[in-house]
Parts: sequence; C-alpha cells; structure tokens
Amino acid sequence: MPKRTPLIAGNWKMYKTALEAGETAATLAQRVADVKTTEVMIAPPFTALEAVYAVVQGTNIALGAQNMHWESEGAYTGEISPSMIKAVGCRYVIIGHSERRQYFGETDQDVNRKIVSTIKAGMFPVMCIGETEEQRESDETFSVLDKQVKIGLEGLFSDDLINLVVAYEPVWAIGTGKTASSDQAQEVHRFLRTRLAEQFDADFAATIRILYGGSVKPANIAELMAMEDIDGALVGGASLDAETFSQIVRYK
Ligand code: PEP
Repeated sequence: MPKRTPLIAGNWKMYKTALEAGETAATLAQRVADVKTTEVMIAPPFTALEAVYAVVQGTNIALGAQNMHWESEGAYTGEISPSMIKAVGCRYVIIGHSERRQYFGETDQDVNRKIVSTIKAGMFPVMCIGETEEQRESDETFSVLDKQVKIGLEGLFSDDLINLVVAYEPVWAIGTGKTASSDQAQEVHRFLRTRLAEQFDADFAATIRILYGGSVKPANIAELMAMEDIDGALVGGASLDAETFSQIVRYK
C-alpha cells in the first residue's frame, strides 16, 4: 500500500509579529513552490493569520491555527472561535499541544471538545499527544497515549475523522534538542495505528497521517520519514527560519 501523502507542519508558537510572519511565509513560499508530493502547513500566532493567509493563498502552503475555543461564540474573553480562524483562511487547527496541556491546563476532555468543533467547522484537527519523560521512564508511554486517544476521539466515528491528523510529540523531545530515535518513534507510531484500528477500523487507520514532533531538523527528518508509520512532522523551533524549514520540507 502506498504511504500516505506526507505533511510537514510548522508551529510558530508565540513568535513573530504579523509583519515578520508574512515575510517568513513569503520566503518559504518561494523556497517550496516546486514541492508537489508533500503537503506543507504553517501555524503562526492568531494575530498573524490574516497576513500570512494573504501570502500563502493560492500557493502549496496551507494555513493552520495553534489553538481555538470549542464554542462557536460567547462571553469567553480572550478566546478565538472556530469560525473566526476559518474566516481568515485556516484549514488546520493544532489541538492539545503539550504546551497547552502543561501551561494552560488543557485536558483530554477539552481536546475532545475542540476536535469535535474543528470537524463541525469543516477544518482538519491535528491532535497532539505524547508522554512526559517521567511517564516514559516509568513505562507508562503506551497507557498514556491510549488514554489520550480514547478520550480525545470519544464519541466520534471514522466518517467524522477522515481529515484527522495525529501528532505524536514526546514531551521530553519538544524544544529540548533530544529527538526520539527513528526506531523509538516508529514503535509508537505503529502502536497508535493499531490503536486507531481497534477504536475504529483497519482501513481507516491505514489512511490517517501520524506526524512525529520533537526537535525535528534538517539533519534528522529523512531518517524519520523513512519509517513506515511516520507520515510527516510537526516542527517547532526549526520552522521559524524559512530556509531551515524549507530544507525539512524538501527532505526527499
Ligand atoms: C512543537 O512545538 O510541536 C515542537 C515539536 O517543537 P520543537 O520542534 O522545537 O521541538
């Protein structure tokens, strides 16, 4: 069976003003313009979404948001709704990033609500899951991931989830320079695909893209992408520079 279309996604976190983000996006668009067999997505801060969309509209780069509220509107000061990010051109939404879980108390139940809302709004969720260093050391990796997938996707059916992307991001590898080895990552990705086949069905699980995230850089992307169940990457630090990120996108 052919591998799924790879997706290389950049998470710009709380970096770049709208002007800076637009400039980086323009340079990136030039450098990846001829890439046809890999999908590219960038997720700038909310304040830069509109400026970046003006640059990437009509190119091979898709726009993503880093988060959103699950309600469609209401008295939720400081929050942004699904329709708001969709209106400025977002196709993807990163949900449940470990920094949201760690610093803003997001739970698996919140992740579930947000995934449901993302789908309802016609966007594609990128569901982030991953174990902490402590959990890995105490052999809890698979049980933690099992719970994150079970609750995160609760109440949803495979028909709802055709555009789901899963991002496996071991917390100990995010922004630390420590990357999971390609074998370690493949082992988890295989587990996750099997896990999706059990909760849904095997045909569905075979189509779902599972990205790896955690200190991905030009030097390690090819080895990761050579693994059977790794379908792309969610890249933080190394996505902030257009040249470096374009090298990751052009890993082939
Ligand atoms: C991330 O923010 O999702 C991430 C993986 O960060 P980094 O690539 O910097 O480890």
